[in-house]
Amino acid sequence: MFELPECVTLARQMNDTLKGKTIQRGQQGNSPHKFVWYNRSHDEFERLTKGKTVGQARAKGRWLFIPLEPGYVLLLGECGGKVLYHPPGSKVPKKYHLYIAFEDDSFLTAMTQMWGAMELYEEGEEQNREYVKDMRTTPIEPGFTFDYFSALVDDLMEGKKRSAKALLTQDQLIPGLGNSIAQDILFRARISPKHPIADLTSDQRGLLYKAIVDTVAEVIEKGGRYDEYDLYGNRGGYPRLMDKNAVGRPCPECGGEIEKIQYLGGACYLCPNCQE
Ligand SMILES: [Zn+2]
Repeated sequence: MFELPECVTLARQMNDTLKGKTIQRGQQGNSPHKFVWYNRSHDEFERLTKGKTVGQARAKGRWLFIPLEPGYVLLLGECGGKVLYHPPGSKVPKKYHLYIAFEDDSFLTAMTQMWGAMELYEEGEEQNREYVKDMRTTPIEPGFTFDYFSALVDDLMEGKKRSAKALLTQDQLIPGLGNSIAQDILFRARISPKHPIADLTSDQRGLLYKAIVDTVAEVIEKGGRYDEYDLYGNRGGYPRLMDKNAVGRPCPECGGEIEKIQYLGGACYLCPNCQE
């Protein structure tokens, strides 16, 4: 699944490569998938995208906003898999969930894993979409200050008991983070996934905040995680610290063995010595 850094990378690459291109033909998937969400019929999508020009794309959380000018915005939300640019002369893949051919004979395809939204809105209407409408502040926005983060933790402490992993991965409390980047953030902050947020010391809050901001910035700078692909089909340059390949290996900090546990709907990778 793409997380915020991968979405930022894709938006940047779309602006380098797709911006200004005119659509010859836009098609929704030829490969039915129960969990790809479209909001248009096939005919409608084709009719509304024809002749539109790609504007300046941007990412917010795990959502990509791609203006199709004039008047429309293509939304790719909570996707994984591959969103690929194909230069002129490339062969069209057999299966896709989205295919957009441009007048210069290049094209874009998207094929998601798990699930994902591929929706076309009249400009402005995309802001009313569920999950976009009430999105909280994301870690790359100026509003994501330590005071904001600390107030968020205070607010959440009053509701149901949440752990550090829940704070990073549930209900898009910090939009754009997911189970993957959360592992590295928690390791860098030296906090266990199960640590209740109500029990974080003020030092730990500071460490967690810094780990979120620094990790997101580093993954963006390196063009996404190494197990995801960019617009050109290249792997990202950020090697994950805590993932399945790290299990059984020595912790880079203390040399202890990295462990895998199942917790809160997925695997966690951690160093039990370093993370408390
Ligand atoms: Zn360790």
